[in-house]
Amino acid sequence: MALAAAPPPLLVTAGPKQVARGWSFPARSTRAAQGSEGAAATSVAVVGAGPVGLLTALALARRGFRKVRVLDRLPEPPAPDASVWGDPDRSYNLGIGGRGQRALIKFGAFDRVDRWSKTVVGRKDWSGEGEPKVTINKRRFLTKVIARDRLSSCLYEELRESYPDVEVQFSTECTGVDFAHPRPRLSLRNCTAQEAEEG
Ligand SMILES: Cc1cc2nc3c(=O)[nH]c(=O)nc-3n(C[C@H](O)[C@H](O)[C@H](O)COP(=O)(O)OP(=O)(O)OC[C@H]3O[C@@H](n4cnc5c(N)ncnc54)[C@H](O)[C@@H]3O)c2cc1C
Repeated sequence: MALAAAPPPLLVTAGPKQVARGWSFPARSTRAAQGSEGAAATSVAVVGAGPVGLLTALALARRGFRKVRVLDRLPEPPAPDASVWGDPDRSYNLGIGGRGQRALIKFGAFDRVDRWSKTVVGRKDWSGEGEPKVTINKRRFLTKVIARDRLSSCLYEELRESYPDVEVQFSTECTGVDFAHPRPRLSLRNCTAQEAEEG
């Protein structure tokens, strides 16, 4: 499947696997596209609707990119307030430290994420002898813990509400990119939940 637009589309990749495959990262071309041609006319494909892909789409939309399309082979995540999130098999938890929180604040998504996070106020260490030692965090940013998929779900909700023009397509795998063409062409295929799980 091809992405067609003028000027040529940008390709943004998210997730370590794609970077390892040598796909392009658009930091320079993004700045160039904001120049004379204008961000609004530039098509951008973001491969991967994980936390980084969705934040990238938010950042691009805030900078005026209007033709942003995000693809992920996984099915659409449940809403942040769904009951499934109590299931520990659903997704692993990750801790968001100061830098991550600052990024979420910058993109206007922090309150939404914070609502579904647990705050880590300190730690308890057992040495095996005597009483456990409790250390209370005194840092400015206390770590926020949330399931990875729920974080993605919050960012997806933020994107839909704030930038409904951005298209997010789930259950769609990008199987290749043809850079030989003047406008890079993506090969896409529909993906079942089981195939996505198997990677
Ligand atoms: C067990 C565990 C614990 C972790 N704990 C922490 C923590 O405490 N704090 C922290 O900051 N980080 C933690 N991490 C790391 C954190 O999960 C990653 O840094 C974060 O998920 C990276 O986000 P991402 O969007 O770049 O990639 P990912 O979350 O990997 O998302 C990539 C997305 O791209 C999609 N995708 C991949 N290939 C394709 C393709 N060809 N076509 C379409 N879609 C595709 C995938 O389906 C996926 O949804 C942890 C990771 C693990 C595994």
